[in-house]
Amino acid sequence: MSDYDSMWIDGAWVPGAAGTRPVLNPTDGSVIAEVAEGDADQALRAIDAARRAQPAWAALAPVERAAVMHRIAGLIRDHADPLARLVVTEQGKPIAEARGEVAGAAEFFTYFAEFARRIQGEIFPSDAPDEQIWIQRVPVGVVVGIIPWNYPAALVSRKVAPSMIAGNAIVLKPHEETPLSALYMARLFAQAGVPDGVVNIVTGPGDTVGAALTAHPEIDLITMTGSVPTGKRIMQTASANLVPVSLELGGKAPLIVMDDADLDLAVASAVTSRFMNCGQVCICNERMLIQEGIFDAFVDRFVEATRALRMGDPMLDTTDLGPKVSQPELEKVERITQEAVAAGAEVLLQGGRPDTPPVAGGNWLKPTILAGVRADMPIMRDEIFGPVVPLMKVADFDEAVSIANDSRYGLSAYLFTNDFSRIMRAVQDVRFGEVYINRVGPEALQGYHTGYRNSGPGGDDGIHGLDAYLRKKTVYANYSGRSPVALMPW
Ligand code: NAD
Repeated sequence: MSDYDSMWIDGAWVPGAAGTRPVLNPTDGSVIAEVAEGDADQALRAIDAARRAQPAWAALAPVERAAVMHRIAGLIRDHADPLARLVVTEQGKPIAEARGEVAGAAEFFTYFAEFARRIQGEIFPSDAPDEQIWIQRVPVGVVVGIIPWNYPAALVSRKVAPSMIAGNAIVLKPHEETPLSALYMARLFAQAGVPDGVVNIVTGPGDTVGAALTAHPEIDLITMTGSVPTGKRIMQTASANLVPVSLELGGKAPLIVMDDADLDLAVASAVTSRFMNCGQVCICNERMLIQEGIFDAFVDRFVEATRALRMGDPMLDTTDLGPKVSQPELEKVERITQEAVAAGAEVLLQGGRPDTPPVAGGNWLKPTILAGVRADMPIMRDEIFGPVVPLMKVADFDEAVSIANDSRYGLSAYLFTNDFSRIMRAVQDVRFGEVYINRVGPEALQGYHTGYRNSGPGGDDGIHGLDAYLRKKTVYANYSGRSPVALMPW
């Protein structure tokens, strides 16, 4: 029995009813583990376990729930090194980034544990004497969490931590290609004393396990991070049972650089934001709008800085760029790039598969930089999610904002300028859920990670992210001994 051939349901490790599935290392294509493959019945059993466990968990004082969460945070920090290595092994991001991800995974628990004394309600004056009306926040009940492959540890925490402090029980399904970090973390949850059934990690495919979880009539919230097509499917499924959904979907972030910007800062930020995690971040710099006065200077520096990125074994501290997560993802990015070139894009930096890969058998793709694109080309409109970026010359701020806003996505947008009025106009006019001025991501725990349009309804993090895990209850507390209606002045 390997460490990963069972999943965590109701506090027990159970083998997958549908057998196992190999998980591949993107760096060399080798099989890392055979992972439990669940089925629809197991998904339902996990929901049952969550429903049974939730009332006792909710009945604990929030500080008691927080104590368990602080223990989880401590255990994640104690296990930071093996967990970061596991993230690299199953997902392929460079180890330095994986360490950051794991630090974030711990911080989510610390941050949300701090809400133990801060989940507030409101009291309103009644229209009748001797009566109070108050609105309190209560747990929603059972949460289903569905996550993608690009942050296999941090996204577990992003869903589990707010669920726990709110007093809910959760069933979380990691992506079938990157389930190892979630299963590793399940062992830490058990060690920290999470009661049976309060957190369940089920593994398996989206179209069986994921579909069964999200179609369950007795769940109270679906929080999903992933692609737009899956998000739409989940929303449709949930609508049959009127279950609320919070969807964090794709992005097509514009990065605008004005002629007065600090060029060094803009270039370094644009490189980081495009190429971190091999371009596989929902808030990545996906299209660049550069003002014409600095276009040539910016392009020279951007190409040079990109060329200097070190592609290599992601386990090495010296590596900037690891492999793509999978062959299908690599082929998708190749296809998008070839179509752009066929449609007339000019290649400023030729990417593609390296002649001599850093490690044989991996999903290697060198950075590509394109210019000569039009705003209506698919490369400027569709999410790339890889190490390829188009640059477009714009005449002025207004043109940049107009192209930025002309997108079916609306997650994050970046602006580099030192002009106060442009900054304020961007804040006012850019229609995205996150606007970054003179910096790029990552987003902050206390912010609200939310997208407009096809980037999905809902959001994560901060007080507003937590609010999705709570519902409101209005209480009319009358102590007059008479009907309040008779006492009302109108
Ligand atoms: P995906 O939609 O293919 O998969 C996401 C999850 O949904 C997986 O766990 C999958 O098994 C599950 N799933 C698939 N079909 C399902 C179904 N019918 N019912 C229930 N669950 C189902 O996405 P992906 O390829 O893993 O992730 C990449 C996408 O995620 C990109 O578009 C990226 O922008 C987006 N993303 C968004 C954010 C954000 O916060 N907005 C963060 C990270 C990634």
